[in-house]
Amino acid sequence: MEEQLTERLGAVRARVDAAAHAAGRDPDEVTVLLATKNQPAEAIRAALSLPGAARMLRGENRVQELVAKGPALTGLTTPTHLIGPLQSNKINAALRWVTCVESVESPGLADRLAARVQTPDEPDRTLDVMVQVNVSGEPTKHGVAPDDALPLARHVATLPSLRLVGFMTIGAHTPDETVVRTGFAALRAVRDAALADGLATAAHLSMGMSGDLELAVAEGATIVRVGTAVFGPRS
Ligand SMILES: *Cc1c(COP(=O)(O)O)cnc(C)c1O
Repeated sequence: MEEQLTERLGAVRARVDAAAHAAGRDPDEVTVLLATKNQPAEAIRAALSLPGAARMLRGENRVQELVAKGPALTGLTTPTHLIGPLQSNKINAALRWVTCVESVESPGLADRLAARVQTPDEPDRTLDVMVQVNVSGEPTKHGVAPDDALPLARHVATLPSLRLVGFMTIGAHTPDETVVRTGFAALRAVRDAALADGLATAAHLSMGMSGDLELAVAEGATIVRVGTAVFGPRS
């Protein structure tokens, strides 16, 4: 298993590096986040213990899975991001295991999250968050419409326990590369507008997955979220 993981992880990193070079970017600007949904803790631990994984992030979609695997992964220092929808009744559970919530998609969620970050045990904690944007307009996808992204980002920036670190999207589900790439460009435009608006910490662009990471890197991705390219097809 380790040999295959090493090989696949290396192949993903090589794809990212090649795409960065092709775009005239520094490959070090792009971090690989390992999307570990449906993967057992042993496989996650094996992948994240490889030398190539030292600078990686991990992402989970479902809070239930995050919580279930949490104890088995203690000791791993890889920062973990929530990359799926967050219901209000799961906020406390999520906060126990993540360093960043990439899926903030409403002012209400931002408010409820902000209210829970600081506790008597951690009175000074701040949580990194990203605003999730639905750039494709596909109704099955989470996230705010591009036009609503900057207002939501401004709102998040007013909440002292949250630190807005950027924007996240899931690319359009189509083989048409122009459409996918246009969506990623739209996320970059939102990010650039936020920076121009004075939201100086909102620099990250989390976009691109196993099938479309080259297009995302070409449009400025700083985090690509990869599952199947490392673990193989999900069962
Ligand atoms: C599953 C998932 C990924 C990774 O997708 P792959 O196609 O397996 O690389 C990335 N982001 C999110 C939000 C996901 O749910």
